[in-house]
Amino acid sequence: MAMNTQGRPSRPLHTPDPGAYDDTFSGSKGLDQAEPLIFERQTYDKTGVDFEAPKGKPSRLGALERSDDLGLPGLSEPEAMRHYVRLSRKNYAIDIGLYPLGSCTMKHNPRLNEKLARLPGFSDIHPLQPQSTVQGAFELIGDLAHWLMTLTNMPTVAMSPKAGAHGELCGMMAIRAALDARGESHRRRVLVPESAHGTNPATAVQCGFHVDEIPANAIGRVDMEAFKAKLGDDVAAIMLTNPNTCGLFESDIREIADLMHEAGGYFYCDGANFNAISGRVRPGDLGVDAMHFNLHKTYSTPHGGGGPGSGPTVLSEALAKFAPLPFVIKDGDSWRMVEDEADAKAQGADPFGRMVAFHGQMGMFTRAMSYMLSHGADGLKMASEDAVLNANYVLARLKNVMTPSFDGLCMHEALFDDRFLKDTGVTTLDFAKAMIDEGYHPMTMYFPLVVHGAMLIEPTESESKASVDRFCDTLEALAGAAKAGETERFTAAPRFAPAKRLDETRAARQPVLRWTPPSTDAQAAE
Ligand SMILES: *Cc1c(COP(=O)(O)O)cnc(C)c1O
Repeated sequence: MAMNTQGRPSRPLHTPDPGAYDDTFSGSKGLDQAEPLIFERQTYDKTGVDFEAPKGKPSRLGALERSDDLGLPGLSEPEAMRHYVRLSRKNYAIDIGLYPLGSCTMKHNPRLNEKLARLPGFSDIHPLQPQSTVQGAFELIGDLAHWLMTLTNMPTVAMSPKAGAHGELCGMMAIRAALDARGESHRRRVLVPESAHGTNPATAVQCGFHVDEIPANAIGRVDMEAFKAKLGDDVAAIMLTNPNTCGLFESDIREIADLMHEAGGYFYCDGANFNAISGRVRPGDLGVDAMHFNLHKTYSTPHGGGGPGSGPTVLSEALAKFAPLPFVIKDGDSWRMVEDEADAKAQGADPFGRMVAFHGQMGMFTRAMSYMLSHGADGLKMASEDAVLNANYVLARLKNVMTPSFDGLCMHEALFDDRFLKDTGVTTLDFAKAMIDEGYHPMTMYFPLVVHGAMLIEPTESESKASVDRFCDTLEALAGAAKAGETERFTAAPRFAPAKRLDETRAARQPVLRWTPPSTDAQAAE
C-alpha cells in the first residue's frame, strides 16, 4: 500500500494494485495537483504578513502575553490561493456538470441572484442596526413572504428557519403548541410513511413525539388501509412528503388530510419536493397545516458549501398564531420586526418561542426573490413543468435498461432499483462509483428505503435535452457493461477520481475531527 508522508493512503484501500506507472513521482495526476492538508505543510514559522514588533512599547498584557507559538500554519497569498483552488478542483459542483441527486433539486443558481444579493443595501447591513435604516430589507422579507403564501394559499409564513429540517422543527413545534393550547398534550404519536426523508422522524422525536411508521402500497403511495388503522385520539400529526420521495404525487392526499383532521391531528407536509408543483398546486388547497420550503432547492439558492439553506415554513389558520419570533410586519407606512412576546401578543399572536438569533437567511431571501421575480408566475409554473418533463424523459429513456420501481409517469425525479443488476456482481454502490469515472456525480443511492438498492435521479429543469441525453447515453452504456459481465469496471471504480473508495462507515462512526502531527512510524509505513 502506497502511503504519502502523512500516512494517508495515496491509492484506494480496496482496489487491486494498478498497472505500472499508475503512480506519479510528484503525487499529482495530470494537471490535478496533489494537495496536503494545510496543517501538513509544516509552515508554522511563516506568516503571510509581517508586522514589525513595536519598538520601545512595553507590553501591557503582563503575564497574559503569549509566550509559545500560535501553532497556525502560515501561507503567503499565492500559497493560500493555490491551496483553496486546488481543493475546489477536487470537488464536484452544479457549475461543473449535471448533478442528478434525487430529492436535492440540484439546479442552476442564476448569477442574477448573486448580483442582487450583493447589492450593498442587502449585503452590507447588520441585524442590530436601527430598524428605520433597513426598511428595504424588511420590505423584501415581507414581499417574499407574500409570494410564498400566495404560491401555497396559506395565511402565514415563518421566515426564520434556516434549512428544510429546521422548517420541519418549526412546523412540528407549532403543532405541539396548538395541541398544548387545546389541552391535548397526550397526543404524541406522529405518523410517518416509511419512504420519508430521515429528517422527518428525527424532527418528530426532537419535538418529543414518537414515530409510528406507515407502509407504502404497491404503487409507491401511502397504504390507505394501514393509515386509517393507525388513526386514534393519541395521534398528533402525519408528516407526509408530496410529491413523495419515490417521485410520485400522493393521489389520496385530500382524503389523508380530511381523515387526519377528523381524527383531531394536523397535517405536516414536507415541501422539499415543491419544485415539481410550484405554480401548479397550492398545498393550502390540499388541507396542509404546515409545510417548509427549501429555498435552496425550489428557488435556486445555493446549497451547502455554496451557501446556507433556508426553510421558510407556511402555517394554516389553525397554527398561524403559534409562529415563532421574530417576524416582520407592516405597521402603517413602515416595516418593523416583532421581537418579543408582549409585542407579539399585542398583535394577536402566541409564538411558541424563537428559533434563531435574528430574522433568518437574508442573502437567501434576496436570491429566492430574484429568482421568483425573474421567472414570474408563468415562469415558475413552467420551471415545475420542465422539471417533471425532464424526469419523465430520463424514465422513458432508461426504463428498458434499468428497472423503474413503479409503473407510470413520475413527477420531478425517476426512481430505479437494482433488479437490473441481479446476478451481475455489481451493486448500486459500484454502479454509482462507475458514474464518477464517467464524470457524473452519482444519483441519490439507497434512498428511499422502500425499494431495494434505490437509485433516485432528479435531473431538474435547468439541464438541456442534449445534457440529459449524454447522461442517459452514459447510464445506458454502464447498464450494458454490467450486464455484459464487465464487473471490474464497477468494483474497481472510481479509477480516475482524486480519492478512491473511502471507508465511509468508519468515517461516520469514528470521525477524525482533529489533525495531529504524524508519528514517525506512520511516515515510514509502506
Ligand atoms: C432535503 C430534504 C429535507 C431536508 O432539508 P435540509 O435543507 O437539507 O435540512 C427534508 N425532506 C426532504 C424530502 C428533502 O429532500
